[in-house]
Amino acid sequence: MAPGSDLSRLKERVASAKDIVVLTGAGISADSGVPTFRGKDGLWRTYRAEDLATPEAFERDPRLVWEWYNWRREVLSTKKPNDAHYAIAQLESRTDRFQLITQNVDGLHRVAGSKNIYELHGDIWKTRCTSCLSVIDNHEVPLSLLPHCQTCAGLLRPHIVWFGEALDQDTLSKSFQAVESCELLLIIGTSGLVYPAAMLMPSAKAHGAFVAEINLDPTPYSSGVDLSIQARAKEIVPLLL
Ligand code: NAD
Ligand code: ZN
Repeated sequence: MAPGSDLSRLKERVASAKDIVVLTGAGISADSGVPTFRGKDGLWRTYRAEDLATPEAFERDPRLVWEWYNWRREVLSTKKPNDAHYAIAQLESRTDRFQLITQNVDGLHRVAGSKNIYELHGDIWKTRCTSCLSVIDNHEVPLSLLPHCQTCAGLLRPHIVWFGEALDQDTLSKSFQAVESCELLLIIGTSGLVYPAAMLMPSAKAHGAFVAEINLDPTPYSSGVDLSIQARAKEIVPLLL
């Protein structure tokens, strides 16, 4: 648990800030039972996520990559938002200006009621056509192993930013604008190892935001933030309201 004084300092910041940005990573959904990539439960068969979530893997064996995404969709379809997701959605409704940046692709923030969301790494519940590039919502579980576009018959891929791919430029620049102008940045459950998302924290600090981190373990951010609380997201985030 966090020392009481840190928690009350953070509560005061949350209550007084008129412009808040929250940045989340896989750790916030860990409390919903969604495996993180770097945690001990993050394995799938004998593959590593980093070996499957790449354009090269999809080129080599789209069926295997879809098999993995189908497995992840199946796991996710049984998961629900937890109290931390709900608290973030409530915070949005109480704050003058509120933006949520997430590295998660699981859609749980949306289910919890968050609205102003920048999904840096895409959305596992969307497909993108490799030919005509159209993006559509798709909640089928399981999806056929080689799904094709209804418009142009091109091969569909998950609408996910894979390792080695560029992030959507518009989403990325809105995220940087958000942290550069906010009063308070709350970083929840991210390892700070994935770029360019990892650059958002130093950018917020450089522009004068108060930055707080909530994570089970110390991260590369911990020494640079104004306040670091080591605890489970679902235990601490609801207490901030
Ligand atoms: P990560 O797996 O690198 O790190 C997870 C972080 O969460 C760790 O620092 C860990 O200490 C912390 N954590 C674990 N349980 C926690 C809890 N209960 N409360 C608070 N913190 C907790 O995750 P990342 O930083 O998001 O980067 C991984 C990449 O993998 C992202 O790009 C993301 O797109 C993708 N990913 C997404 C999901 C998802 O959508 N749920 C799941 C796995 C991976
Ligand atoms: Zn198409």
